Amino acid sequence: MSVPKPSPLRVAVIGAGPSGFYAADALLKQREDVSIDLFDRLPTPYGLVRYGVAPDHQKLKSVTKLYERTCSDPRVRFLGNVEFGTDLTHEDVRKHYHAVVYAVGAPSDRHLGIPGEDKAACLSATEFVAWYNGHPDYVDLEVPLDAESVAVVGVGNVAVDVARVLAKSVDELAETDMADYAIEHLRTSRVTDVYMLGRRGPAEAKFTTKELRELGELGNADIVVLPEELEVSDDSMKAIEGDTTRLKNLEVLREMAAKPLEGKPRRLHIRFCVSPREIEGGERIAAVKLERNRLEATESGYMQSVGTGDFETLPAQLLLRSVGYRGTALPGVPFDTRKNVIPNDRGRVLAAAGGAPVPGEYVAGWIKRGPTGVIGTNKADAIETVEQLLADELPAVSAEDASAAAVDQLLRTRGVRAFDFEHWMALDKHEQEAGKASGRPRVKVTAVDDMLRFAATEV
Ligand SMILES: Cc1cc2nc3c(=O)[nH]c(=O)nc-3n(C[C@H](O)[C@H](O)[C@H](O)COP(=O)(O)OP(=O)(O)OC[C@H]3O[C@@H](n4cnc5c(N)ncnc54)[C@H](O)[C@@H]3O)c2cc1C
Repeated sequence: MSVPKPSPLRVAVIGAGPSGFYAADALLKQREDVSIDLFDRLPTPYGLVRYGVAPDHQKLKSVTKLYERTCSDPRVRFLGNVEFGTDLTHEDVRKHYHAVVYAVGAPSDRHLGIPGEDKAACLSATEFVAWYNGHPDYVDLEVPLDAESVAVVGVGNVAVDVARVLAKSVDELAETDMADYAIEHLRTSRVTDVYMLGRRGPAEAKFTTKELRELGELGNADIVVLPEELEVSDDSMKAIEGDTTRLKNLEVLREMAAKPLEGKPRRLHIRFCVSPREIEGGERIAAVKLERNRLEATESGYMQSVGTGDFETLPAQLLLRSVGYRGTALPGVPFDTRKNVIPNDRGRVLAAAGGAPVPGEYVAGWIKRGPTGVIGTNKADAIETVEQLLADELPAVSAEDASAAAVDQLLRTRGVRAFDFEHWMALDKHEQEAGKASGRPRVKVTAVDDMLRFAATEV
């Protein structure tokens, strides 16, 4: 028997990154009488497409054209500069919407858990990436680029982005939409050597072949790969049987190891089977103590790293850990502290992992499944969530409370200045025009107060 649905169905989507937009788009496509408020804590939409994706990978950012189309539908309102948990509480969304979709991403990061990690020159890739992309929360981050040698811990695509940005010349970066202050700071960089450090072997590295190949084509840096670290055991080969990306990676790495150095200004070293065990030095970092690992197959065939007790010292004055993003809890919303996600069943929020569904609450994207997958992965993920939402019986909300006017009134009484999509379009136009003069895609505005000046009228 089908369940009668409220009309229009009022849905709050919290977070205007890819998963928030895909959830809104799926709702629009699957339900005629729907009314969506898409909130973000920042005035700017697009989440990690603006603040994560590398500035020298501009083409990927054209996906925002699709998101613009979603926001041009009269059934959707973008309400930026509204933070869930402070400006808008869990109680508020329960009172004013039939359903809520949490799509807040995974804003934090994992630690290495080794001595010396608290030193100032030990940063996360999360912070560094947000800094060079002009995320308002990170404009004041101190990045010690007087370092000559940098250790980047991790061999995933984020580590590749970070290593590439450090290895490129500032002229190559100056034509991107990297934040102006970051370009100026990178101009002073004394970095000559960047070391990407993989805990496991070349067959287990998570980067994709396209990103790896790009490293081999850098004009400003030679790639250094040690042939002895490319030896792959039968167990490792068995574990990647049929995995074309990893097999291709091995091929590309072997080509890199065989290529003579050309004497470029910088060197980008890709190391395998090493784990940082201690960050040495006083207030500043002097070196990273590395332990060499061997790999052992577990019963399931997973290749795990095991320390050999054989150590080496890698001189480095800056360390960037890139060992995974991490979701954080939202006030009033269940959270699985083991997996760092909102516990869910195909997108239905559960009161606890394995527990009962919470009526009217849903989740999509990185905070649903963890920080994995590319932008497009979030589309199928959001569609799955919306299918559950539309199949469920939703909590009742009075017509008065469910109105957009009631939400506007609530925000007004709290003194919250929502930044709507027209405001964003004005800011976007300004940024693009500022970029035109210097042949750049845009010049980013990085301070929230400066962004808010583009809000001609309050919502
Ligand atoms: C460094 C980096 C580089 C990447 N490069 C690529 C790439 O080249 N190609 C590719 O396909 N994928 C790339 N990805 C992956 C891609 O960015 C993610 O798959 C995608 O952004 C995840 O979408 P999301 O909506 O779940 O999270 P996010 O993009 O993080 O969006 C979450 C949104 O929620 C908002 N928010 C958070 N908390 C609150 C709150 N309390 N109230 C209101 N709003 C809130 C945030 O401001 C943000 O806008 C990259 C990821 C990273 C980290």
